[in-house]
Amino acid sequence: MQQDDRLISNKAQQDERENIALRPRMLRDIVGQDRVRETLRIIIDAAKQRSEPIDHTLFYGPPGLGKTSLAYVIANEMGVNIRITAGPSIERAGDLAAILTHLKQNDVLFIDEIHRLGRAVEEVLYPAMEDFALDIIIGKGPAAKNVRINLPRFTVIGATTQLALLAGPLRDRFGARFRLDFYDLPAMEHIIRRAAEMMKVEITPEGTTEIARRARGTPRVSLRLLRRVRDYAQTRADGVITGTVAGKALKLLDVDLLGLDDIDRRILLTIIEKYNGGPVGLPTIAASISEDSSTIEDVYEPYLMQLGFLKRTPRGREATALAYEHMGLPYNRVDQSPLW
Ligand code: ADP
Repeated sequence: MQQDDRLISNKAQQDERENIALRPRMLRDIVGQDRVRETLRIIIDAAKQRSEPIDHTLFYGPPGLGKTSLAYVIANEMGVNIRITAGPSIERAGDLAAILTHLKQNDVLFIDEIHRLGRAVEEVLYPAMEDFALDIIIGKGPAAKNVRINLPRFTVIGATTQLALLAGPLRDRFGARFRLDFYDLPAMEHIIRRAAEMMKVEITPEGTTEIARRARGTPRVSLRLLRRVRDYAQTRADGVITGTVAGKALKLLDVDLLGLDDIDRRILLTIIEKYNGGPVGLPTIAASISEDSSTIEDVYEPYLMQLGFLKRTPRGREATALAYEHMGLPYNRVDQSPLW
């Protein structure tokens, strides 16, 4: 139960199918991310005028901010096919070669979690991205021959939550790179209003704000909360999502006023209570709360840092005075830096 209700769990994939219907189709449907949207508009229009595919494009930032949606939007705007894959599912160089040889002129190849591509696969991707060519070796030993197959011109759109883990040469092959940031409140409200309309749920402005405030600046979280609140409104109220109904439903879901859930709170409490506010290493925090280090790093930390609750230092993670305040604990840390 607790697992299912968690804001961001792998189970979120179930809701993801419903999300597809809510996904923005064209650039004009993209809410927020103004700079990204405007730059993409220019890149797309210019490429269309030249009847060329757009440059290889990389989106990076925390999960649920719209990287996949933007890849679909680009393909729709360009009027081309999109082929979806992910770093971990391309195990061997041959897998990538098979994908590449099936691409058509101007197609988009979307590679999610691109930082998880293996080295051998990356080696195949480099010439494909740079020269639209596939180098394969035929035969073995001294008789082996290197054969180059030309590929149609296509666009790779990569997405990653961890830019730092992307190999330098791969990063450099992306002509356009965009960092996605958390959305502000008006953008979140807009996304929730639009989704409620499409889901045919009645929601008041107060209900919208209540959900938006607790959605961690993340569209995927807002859609998930909206669905849970809709269920509550349907079974415990008259179906309308008002501010009060949303507030009660979110309380039941254990989502606090800033959108923190049980895991966020356990992360903060571990640092504060067990390690005296830190610094403490990520693996230690992960082991203490039985979570995966990479989930904490990708999903939870970016938002806690955005709130100013968590600091990353060379010696580990530290909880800030703001975090103590939010958790209702006295901040009595002594500044450990030397006086002189
Ligand atoms: P990511 O690939 O970054 O994890 P997604 O593109 O899968 O994120 O976005 C999750 C969901 O959030 C999508 O299904 C989409 O409905 C919604 N969404 C994301 N970004 C936006 C946006 N800018 N405007 C409207 N809806 C959005």
